[in-house]
Amino acid sequence: MGTTLSQEALPGLTPVRATEVYLMDCIFCAIRDGQIPAVKVFEDDRTLAFMDISPLNDGHLLVIAKQHHPNLFEISDEDLAAVSRVAKKMALAIAKALRPDGLNLFQANGPAAGQTIEHFHLHVIPRWLMDGKGVYWEPPVKGDANRIKDAAEKIKAQM
Ligand code: AMP
Ligand code: ZN
Repeated sequence: MGTTLSQEALPGLTPVRATEVYLMDCIFCAIRDGQIPAVKVFEDDRTLAFMDISPLNDGHLLVIAKQHHPNLFEISDEDLAAVSRVAKKMALAIAKALRPDGLNLFQANGPAAGQTIEHFHLHVIPRWLMDGKGVYWEPPVKGDANRIKDAAEKIKAQM
């Protein structure tokens, strides 16, 4: 387990407890267990949704599986399905509540993809036109057709 987070992401803890969580535990497991505070918005037997502490936009929340799975490669199909269902439920609630122009579902898988907490989670991020937050990749540039087909064949061969 473990996390690469700084202690600023561990609100309301004594420095000693923050250090323990930082070094030994998983911060999202600690939220699940009520050991550190979080703004929880939904919970069922498999999942928990709570507000992101550093939201990209108002309403940015995270949906986690209650069981600790580090990433997409390791999460069970059942928990992935449960998290996905709840992400949709949250998206519909956000759409009604905040009337965003759009919404991103986002998952960082591995440090190279920007994952900072090794407990599977989906970001649900409301978006507004011209909110200035951008996306995490360059604007669309037409890809090379052969390279695209090549990649598709390689992926299909693994299914
Ligand atoms: P990722 O970079 O995809 O692993 O996302 C981790 C997310 O967790 C970031 O958006 C953080 O802002 C968020 N986060 C970190 N600590 C907390 C916390 N204590 N409560 C709620 N969200 C947190
Ligand atoms: Zn965990």
